[in-house]
Amino acid sequence: MTPMEQENFDNRQTALTSAKLALTYVNVTNSAAALERSHLCGATAGLVQSKALAAVALLGAEVSQKDETVSLRLRVSGPVAGVLVENAFGGSLRGYTHNKVLNTLDVREEIADEDALGELAQMSVIRSIPGKTISSAMLDVQPASVKKGLHEYLNRSLQRTAEVEIAAESTVAGVTYAKAFMAELMPDGNAQAFKKLSDKFADSSVLQALTSAQDLTELCALLKIEGYKLNEPQQLQFKCRCSTDRVEAMVSDLPDEDLEDMLKNAQENQIICHMCGTGYRIGKSTLWNVLEKRGHDIDFEEDASYYD
Ligand SMILES: [Zn+2]
Repeated sequence: MTPMEQENFDNRQTALTSAKLALTYVNVTNSAAALERSHLCGATAGLVQSKALAAVALLGAEVSQKDETVSLRLRVSGPVAGVLVENAFGGSLRGYTHNKVLNTLDVREEIADEDALGELAQMSVIRSIPGKTISSAMLDVQPASVKKGLHEYLNRSLQRTAEVEIAAESTVAGVTYAKAFMAELMPDGNAQAFKKLSDKFADSSVLQALTSAQDLTELCALLKIEGYKLNEPQQLQFKCRCSTDRVEAMVSDLPDEDLEDMLKNAQENQIICHMCGTGYRIGKSTLWNVLEKRGHDIDFEEDASYYD
């Protein structure tokens, strides 16, 4: 672990300006880098994942109930095929891309996500608590883009007036940064002040400022946004809900044939959590125990490979 990674700086900051513009800033650099390493992503899939993670972290500002999650999914026509990311209550982030290594795109000098995403995306945003969907929206995005998708979700699906920007970079060495910024005009807000700030989104000033700013205060200074009140920052972190117990519970539900195949497997059995990339080693004694509990009397004791 390098010194940079020992402390987690990922966070979400929100503020309200005197013109009633609601500002949200997220920095998910550490989570995006950790997720990329955990999934062994190439640089391009890592970039797609980072941008999606920053986008869902913006939406996560409104996750308010225990066990509530918001997830953002894009199915795309490009070679990365898709991405799913999630922000859970408490600021836990996780996700994955369908394809993780894109050989021809990963060797390019400058890593970009456009060619990986392709022409068309079908995007869905789902807010839920276990057993219940709070809201869901689906929209087509053309060309496929996380930023464009998020913008259309907010403005078209939710009928809100908002601008978004995402700044992320990924190289062969990993994710360098992943941040996002959203400005929303509140119903009683000053439309002229919003228009002025919108122009800075349009001419890339926001992207430039976001790329260099380390927090919302710095970003506001660079964009000359004044008269705002900062709220308490919220911690964000890469964290999945998978655990050894959950994996073992899943294994105990597998059919006999699958368990027997795993016992016959000469290699070590591993179950990889697709949401975070963590590998769980399944010891053969675990498999024996499950079969034994089901009352099976299995006689492949002769073969040493059936044991750890
Ligand atoms: Zn997991």
